[in-house]
Amino acid sequence: MSEHPPATDAPRGALPGALYVVATPIGNLADLSGRARETLASVALIAAEDTRHTRSLLQAFGIDTPLVSLHEHNEAARLGPLIERLQRGEAVALVSDAGTPLVSDPGFGLVRAALDAGIKVTPIPGPTAAVAALSASGLPTDRFAFEGFLPAKAGARRTTLAQLAQEARTLIFYEAPHRLGEVLVDMAEALGPERRASIGRELTKRFETMYYGTLAELGQRVKQDADMCRGELVIVVAGVDPAQAPPLASDVDKVLRTLLDELPAAQAAKLAARITGEKRAALYERAVQLQK
Ligand code: SAM
Repeated sequence: MSEHPPATDAPRGALPGALYVVATPIGNLADLSGRARETLASVALIAAEDTRHTRSLLQAFGIDTPLVSLHEHNEAARLGPLIERLQRGEAVALVSDAGTPLVSDPGFGLVRAALDAGIKVTPIPGPTAAVAALSASGLPTDRFAFEGFLPAKAGARRTTLAQLAQEARTLIFYEAPHRLGEVLVDMAEALGPERRASIGRELTKRFETMYYGTLAELGQRVKQDADMCRGELVIVVAGVDPAQAPPLASDVDKVLRTLLDELPAAQAAKLAARITGEKRAALYERAVQLQK
């Protein structure tokens, strides 16, 4: 008995009045699935992030379905007409320039509006750079957090990274290649230089390369290897190892408060330093603040 249902069980062609969220290749055209092809060929209309980009994809597969643009600047205006066409019974596909729509790409507004209007929304799964990079990262995959793009400005980026310092799940980031060097420095600073990480560059394309190491090692390597900063990339970083994690500020306060119930500030700070590994002077200052 076959483990897989026969391919003919899957609905063929597009159902009338359904919105299909179709994943497209992230570089290698051979990654367009059979169902994606079939769906793109049989819907009445394709809403695409960039119609010129998608037209050349369609041409490669001999598909001539009409296209309409749907990007962050016109999504609000496009929703009404698209929902009307769906309600009239036309099948519509949603695609972005690469990978899975809505994953750091437009489409959320259309999917939400379609669901609110009672329209059937069907995913046609396929490539997404985040999961491709994770699958080859060698880092734990049982729990992960997709962070998309970090803020471009250094201050906001460091704040976001500091907030992630205690995250135990594997972290996945998209990043612009020209910022890789500075981002690795910020990551090493906020998450610790010994954190294991991997970088997936130009996945599925001719110059696909996976880089592995600690944040400090990868940061050093960027300085010597200009290729690392070329093309598209995903950074995957191990979550914090709970055994190695520095104590949370709230945990330190808890220890200090307990000791302060019984001891003067100086002694409480001395003992708290032994328990938490934090600096005694800083703990003394904090103890005095807490006493107030
Ligand atoms: N929707 C896409 C997906 O499902 O992966 C992501 C779109 S987002 C605008 C583009 C970012 O995805 C790039 O800057 C890069 O971080 C990542 N990316 C896309 N294609 C990639 C590839 N072939 N190799 C590595 N990273 C890629």
